[in-house]
Amino acid sequence: MAKPQPTLMDKIVSLCKRRGFIFPASEIYGGIGNTYDYGPLGVELKRRVKDAWWNAVVTARADVVGLDSAIIQNPKTWETSGHVAGFTDPMVDCKKCKGRFRADHIGDLSCPEKPSKRPGECGGELTEPRSFNLMFKTHVGPMEGSGSVAYLRPETAQGIFLNFKSVLECSRLKPPFGIAQIGKSFRNEITPGNFVFRTREFEQAEMEFFVPPAENDEWYEHWRGVRFDWYIDHGISPERLRLREHDAAELAHYSTATADIEYEYPFGWGELEGIACRTDFDLARHSEASGVDLRYFDPQTKERYFPYVIEPAGGVDRMALTFLIDAYEEEELEKDTRVVLHFHPAIAPTTAAVFPLVKKEGMPERAREIEAELRAARMTTFYDEKAAIGRRYRRQDEVGTPFCVTVDGDTLAEDLVTVRHRDTMEQERVATGELVSYLDDAVRNWGRASRV
Ligand code: ATP
Repeated sequence: MAKPQPTLMDKIVSLCKRRGFIFPASEIYGGIGNTYDYGPLGVELKRRVKDAWWNAVVTARADVVGLDSAIIQNPKTWETSGHVAGFTDPMVDCKKCKGRFRADHIGDLSCPEKPSKRPGECGGELTEPRSFNLMFKTHVGPMEGSGSVAYLRPETAQGIFLNFKSVLECSRLKPPFGIAQIGKSFRNEITPGNFVFRTREFEQAEMEFFVPPAENDEWYEHWRGVRFDWYIDHGISPERLRLREHDAAELAHYSTATADIEYEYPFGWGELEGIACRTDFDLARHSEASGVDLRYFDPQTKERYFPYVIEPAGGVDRMALTFLIDAYEEEELEKDTRVVLHFHPAIAPTTAAVFPLVKKEGMPERAREIEAELRAARMTTFYDEKAAIGRRYRRQDEVGTPFCVTVDGDTLAEDLVTVRHRDTMEQERVATGELVSYLDDAVRNWGRASRV
């Protein structure tokens, strides 16, 4: 029988492991479901994704500020937000194999014992759907008891609502304005996750934008457009991206309108980020439950009101996976095939690799000096002197390094290096003194045209 060909996801998972992007967590103990660790390149990739998000959503704007709130909050937070009662998935159990499955995903799942069959079609009987709360419970303090129960946050948004008043008082902002946060969230996900698409702990990048209620619709338009364009500006293929409005049945209990930015993954279209109109649901509920007035007082109109909220909420791990999938290409060349990740340089884990052409004649020493200059200019670099130069280029293509800088005889004689571009494979001679500004310009002027 012919060996089954690896799928695109298989290839990406294997590349991530081999080259140090993403490892299965606790692997030496046999792993732990839906949990991954990020290796040296993965951590850089994620850092770039977070920086690019923060730059666009916070640094570049005068109307958004940042926050870093605690993971474990007073448990009343989650009672008030509706998570204790309502953050559930409908689950069914198979009485035969004891497997537990999301009732709304049965059509996409296989029976663990007979993988060619759906759960329930294998002769096992499924229970009626039961609500399963996705929040992780823990205990605070030395005694375990019902009074000490706390939750790991399932979203970063609530920490923002709890701090709304404090931020308002210290920042001198007034609606419309936003508070942004990047941080870990935890959900006891049951459905297997398609690698880091769905994991039990993950990072979210969320922003709550508080607006006068009358401006709700225009800001919803604004943030849908801004967030969609951000992906395209950072290199995601527009033809694999779409905005999909939720219909009424799909809307969360707190939302009057929600649009998902969806990507066409190898396993089908999936949510990458959601932009939701949360109305005044959260501020009003927390006001009522805490007894603290969270309304905004407008000194001009003398009006006191709960702002409405527009929330763009994305997952950093899902973004990193999307950048990896979208960047991946097996490119047919004249003589062979190369694997290349076409990352935008703002997302690429390494900006420039530096090579001596050969390991002699002072080239390694000069290459090390040049690498140190690039590092001093805050570029991420990688030094490599092993193997033939062609192989070294290919190793960098496979991890998406946009530029390779080679030190050769001309560098020593005339202070010129060769810069090789990942996507076009074209090479240019650049004076060493101009290398930093040359690379800076190339990053700044990067466009999709350079992908072809
Ligand atoms: P899904 O329908 O995929 O479960 P959701 O609608 O519950 O996602 P939100 O609560 O809107 O997701 O969270 C905002 C973002 O957080 C999602 O768009 C996604 O990018 C990310 N996210 C949510 N759950 C996970 C998870 N288990 N693993 C990784 N990322 C996640």
